Amino acid sequence: MFVMNLKCLFRGFLTFFFLLFLSSCSNGEEATFQEIQEKTDFALNTVTTIKLYEAPSFAEEDWEKSFGVLRELEDRMSSHKEGTEVMQINLSAGLKPVRVSDDTFEVIRVAKEIAEETDGNFDPSVGAITKLWKIGSDDQHVPQKNEIEEALKKVDYRKIILDEKEKTVFLEEEGMWIDLGAIAKGFASDKVSSHLSDRGVKRAILNFGGNIALLGSKEDGVAWKIAIRKPDRNRFAIYASLFAQNESVVSSGDYERFFEQGGKIYHHIINPFTGYPTENGIRGASVILESSMRADAYATALMVMGKERAIEFIEKKGLEAMLIFEDMSSYQSFNKDRNLELGLE
Ligand code: AMP
Ligand code: MG
Repeated sequence: MFVMNLKCLFRGFLTFFFLLFLSSCSNGEEATFQEIQEKTDFALNTVTTIKLYEAPSFAEEDWEKSFGVLRELEDRMSSHKEGTEVMQINLSAGLKPVRVSDDTFEVIRVAKEIAEETDGNFDPSVGAITKLWKIGSDDQHVPQKNEIEEALKKVDYRKIILDEKEKTVFLEEEGMWIDLGAIAKGFASDKVSSHLSDRGVKRAILNFGGNIALLGSKEDGVAWKIAIRKPDRNRFAIYASLFAQNESVVSSGDYERFFEQGGKIYHHIINPFTGYPTENGIRGASVILESSMRADAYATALMVMGKERAIEFIEKKGLEAMLIFEDMSSYQSFNKDRNLELGLE
């Protein structure tokens, strides 16, 4: 009874101060305080949540427009859906160049650039392989060895030919297939962030299937505390937390999409040199960068590289990143002021 009364009293105070605050903002002054506004949807093949912390009041129509940005990108860049620009590029492989929108061109251009930088550990033409595994669909299965061998011949980012002036993409060989699954979510985060910012949103957190993009900070001078997930396929647990603001914290891991066949687990991150899911001791990789698109591509690339090469790459590029290994130990290169905390469970 006593506790309840205290709670009621506390709520009463909050309501009182809230009203007092609002009333102090009358005389044409706009109230700056807003309640957190949140919306979750299914897009880009994953659960997407947008949480607005300081923003104008969002009506249904505003949410529609924001998630509309996502849907539009999906309709252009999915390699599964019919009629997308990426599907047209894939179906025209070995035949002809395809003219695409600026957004699609930009994502493929950066994807090719990162494929070069990572020596093909990240390779958007890995679609020839992912198309066989179909991981995440009802039809996921281990392909025949010879199917993988044949498809491997079609994986080569150097054969993605871009014409900057004409905005065309041409896959040189028949049977090549682009899959932007490792970079498109990041691009979408960047796009939605700038859309929200244009609409007057000051502070927000976007979570597109573990791809976290932060607009602004939690409060002036106070960063957000962001969790990095433990690579655990059975339950949701936190491995670490750190401070971040106005940037993206993007993670890739073998726990996100997987299936079991013959007592073995197969996950969605493919080594483009073998055609099989990676098995190199790295279970999770996270990257912090202003560009969500680049962070997304790098996180996937690090998963593929394996421990030594990934650490070498992080150090050479001066990336802020974390690798979590099979035994749940980790490597990280975050700036000290992020106040990384480990082992939170
Ligand atoms: P992410 O969750 O960002 O690591 O992206 C994984 C998705 O990217 C997979 O579901 C595939 O569609 C695609 N993918 C898998 N392996 C690679 C790779 N080595 N390079 C580029 N894309 C990949
Ligand atoms: Mg990625």
